[in-house]
Amino acid sequence: MITLDALRANPALLKLDLYCKGARLDDSCYIEGDGGRKVMRTRAGLGSGLELILPGELWTNVPVSEPFAQKSPYTIHRADGRYLLRHDGRDVSPLRLSPRPDWYDAKTGSGKPMTRIGTLQGTYLGIYQAKVCEYWTAPTKVNCKFCSVGLNLGVDDANDKSVAEVMEVVRRARDESGITYVDFNTGHYDGDTYLDILEPYIVRIKRELGLLVGVQTPPHRDLRRYDGLREMGVNRVSFCFEIFDRGLFEEICPGKHAEYGLDYYLEAVRYCAALARKGPRHEPWVTNGEIIGGLEPPESSIRAIDWITSVGAVPTVCVFRPLVGTDLEHAAPPETEAMVPVFRRLYEACMERGLPIGCAPNVHVSLVMLPEECRTLSPRRYPLTTLKLKAMAAAFGYQFRRRLQAAPA
Ligand code: SF4
Repeated sequence: MITLDALRANPALLKLDLYCKGARLDDSCYIEGDGGRKVMRTRAGLGSGLELILPGELWTNVPVSEPFAQKSPYTIHRADGRYLLRHDGRDVSPLRLSPRPDWYDAKTGSGKPMTRIGTLQGTYLGIYQAKVCEYWTAPTKVNCKFCSVGLNLGVDDANDKSVAEVMEVVRRARDESGITYVDFNTGHYDGDTYLDILEPYIVRIKRELGLLVGVQTPPHRDLRRYDGLREMGVNRVSFCFEIFDRGLFEEICPGKHAEYGLDYYLEAVRYCAALARKGPRHEPWVTNGEIIGGLEPPESSIRAIDWITSVGAVPTVCVFRPLVGTDLEHAAPPETEAMVPVFRRLYEACMERGLPIGCAPNVHVSLVMLPEECRTLSPRRYPLTTLKLKAMAAAFGYQFRRRLQAAPA
């Protein structure tokens, strides 16, 4: 049983509880008028909520649109120009709206709203590149059952984004929002064309702006392509296999199962994690295996975390959000109590293996709990690893600032 006192004292627990329960907006809220970000249906799917900052500088995206959120004990209020979170009418904590930058209201030179090119998710820029995932358009739809990508296309994301348009938005986001990281995401395209599509954008961003860049796509059938990304200076590759339980993977992700299979996802994670030992040495490299907590038993999520960390990759754990219009829209979100051991294990497994968590400068993620954010869910402390990670973060932050200063304006 999670008490109100525990939620007040532990922002990580609060962030997790809000993912699981969502919140209702009181009529006093004036989100956009107060400089907050509009609730958008970008192709992230999970980014369907309100972007907020919790105490402890925990950035988050709180479900507010889904039916389960309408039954939440949490309500968000505005009083004297400030925002406040209440639980069953009792104050929990102050909140801040994640700031909406001016470029959110601007258009590219080609006339597209900049938010249809990319949006902030926490403090980084997320770009959902290219056309809709082909699992949605196959003669027999084989989309992942939790996914809203095929529903969202054209709502808040443009289908076609040129390199020039993307560069324009990345520059504005760098100059005005201080982003340090750009994340590209695609679905599945026949012929494994996703890396070919992304590479021209990556090359320009690395060469002209020196920002950190990540790529989340299906696992390319030629794994040597990831050696190429490593050499290009890409900093993160992420593979979303979502579910570690084989039966549930097949049932909930039929397209991924038929096209690649769980074993190939795992092989890609293993292969890419090993590339950390290769150069260029000045470019950090992280491999993520991404899963969704709440779509399989917690023990299975924990097994996934242990497997991912055993090969030197860092797990990304989302919390299942039953999005409106998806095949799973009527499913229940997970119970917070069931998720706590999963996120506790996320922190502990990363620390036990000494994985590079919390080292990227100014990267706050709203869509998931970062491993380092889960520290307060565990009683265990890792003083030596903590010292090592602090030193890594300081060294990388210094090097990265110098690189940005050297980049052309
Ligand atoms: S691969 Fe699955 S989760 Fe990703 S965009 Fe396609 S249907 Fe959605």
